[in-house]
Amino acid sequence: MGYTTLLLASLGILLAGTDASPLSKRAALDDCLKTALVPTLASGSADYTQSIKPFNNRVTFKPAAYAVPTTVKHVQDAVACGAANNILVTAKSGGHSYGSHGLGGEDGHLIVDMRNFKSVTVDAASNTAVIGTGGRLGDVATALYNQGKKAIAHGTCPGVGVGGLSLHGGYGLISRSKGLTLDNIISVEVVLANSSVVTASEMQNPDLFWALRGAGSAFGIVTNFKFKTFTPPESNIVFQYGVNPSSASQLATIITALQDFSRNTQPLEMNMRLFLASYTTLSGVYYGSRADFDKIMQPLLSKTGISGGQITTNTWINTLSSFAYGPLQQATPYDTHETFFSKSLMPELLSPAAITALANYWNANARSNSRNWYLLFDLHGGKNSAITQIPSNTTAYAHRNAVFKMQFYDRVNSGAYNSAWFPFLNGWVKAIQDASPGVDFGMYINYADTSLSKEQAHGAYWIGKYEQLVQVKEVWDPKRTFEGPQLVGS
Ligand SMILES: Cc1cc2nc3c(=O)[nH]c(=O)nc-3n(C[C@H](O)[C@H](O)[C@H](O)COP(=O)(O)OP(=O)(O)OC[C@H]3O[C@@H](n4cnc5c(N)ncnc54)[C@H](O)[C@@H]3O)c2cc1C
Repeated sequence: MGYTTLLLASLGILLAGTDASPLSKRAALDDCLKTALVPTLASGSADYTQSIKPFNNRVTFKPAAYAVPTTVKHVQDAVACGAANNILVTAKSGGHSYGSHGLGGEDGHLIVDMRNFKSVTVDAASNTAVIGTGGRLGDVATALYNQGKKAIAHGTCPGVGVGGLSLHGGYGLISRSKGLTLDNIISVEVVLANSSVVTASEMQNPDLFWALRGAGSAFGIVTNFKFKTFTPPESNIVFQYGVNPSSASQLATIITALQDFSRNTQPLEMNMRLFLASYTTLSGVYYGSRADFDKIMQPLLSKTGISGGQITTNTWINTLSSFAYGPLQQATPYDTHETFFSKSLMPELLSPAAITALANYWNANARSNSRNWYLLFDLHGGKNSAITQIPSNTTAYAHRNAVFKMQFYDRVNSGAYNSAWFPFLNGWVKAIQDASPGVDFGMYINYADTSLSKEQAHGAYWIGKYEQLVQVKEVWDPKRTFEGPQLVGS
């Protein structure tokens, strides 16, 4: 008898039939969670109302029930209750998914909020740390540093959750040197759809380990990760140059030069991004000496016509703070939100025609747009990037060879996002795609694009890997307990 059957038998609960009405299914779910003593938030309570507020105000959903487990057993019981009542189960960590996938990405999911799983335990001797999935990056970075000056590679925003970031990518300003967050996972503890707990690593359940690193949300609920840590460098060159392209052709020249730099010459110690907005900047971190930094940057600056700039030497914690735009440690309850629509592209190469189309669209449509939009180019790959050097099939992350990680973001500072504005970013991406016949661009699920159909999402987020992921899904979640509108197997 499996764990689920045992639990249900012990709780005296019959499996809900597929014909049960949504209301009776929800009542049965509530009863199951209550009998199993899984902590939940009551609909309408202040904590519940706060907790279902997503990072992206534009994309809200109403769950079937909201669990806040404090033990792994609670997570197992919550999954069992969801599965028994045919209610889809969704883990939430930091709640930062652009499509609110941590709230299910649609109404009616059982949310398992991992906020209580946020411990950080460093083992300095083995250079590893066990990190709970519900921690936020700023708190995790601080805890790692305070326990013997350690660090992991992760993204820049201190409010993002470890869970979603690590299971789908995790790019930040040391990724060129150290890889993505998911490249530094040694093992994962995960609650499966049948409610059992397993470890996934290179040695244990390697197919599951492969899938969790790139498409994790469809395969279980991770309770903690064991990561490789490193001793962070303490004398880092943090730079920012103002870049003000005055024409489409000047922007095209800059992007062409950055692409060439990223692919061919950018060393792994140099991490960099172009933030194209009403005020455009080229910023980043160099983990080396000022003299070497100058030598590497000079040819790029000459080619692009960029000059001036602010260049400082920062400790590790100040380096993280420079890109966090606020304190590293996060308030509880977390209450930062934006209202936006976003898209992404992960090109291996932008052809001259694609760059021209991108720059022309910027000139014709973006420059005059007074909303708070941006297009971020992270210099992600190239021959010296730690991300590209990892063989493509090591993990389910599908964008090893992407030269840029491009994030298109359009937000409003107040009020709702008007549906009449969707064509602005959709049109920008389309212009680039139309100029690139025969090229399939990948997209990054950590920048979930709510305008994609499920087929488009599957093809773009897991380009070249989707079929293999579906096979692994059949093994570990055959009844599709962990689903969402864009997740593997949906
Ligand atoms: C302001 C901001 C800045 C960002 N900066 C970066 C950046 O620098 N680099 C980068 O790579 N990305 C960045 N992102 C994107 C971010 O990585 C994704 O949004 C990420 O998925 C958020 O993770 P989360 O746990 O906060 O979100 P959630 O919404 O809680 O979860 C996201 C997805 O992961 C699943 N999930 C979460 N926890 C678990 C778990 N324990 N087990 C199984 N599945 C789980 C959820 O079900 C959901 O599908 C940023 C996002 C924002 C909003």
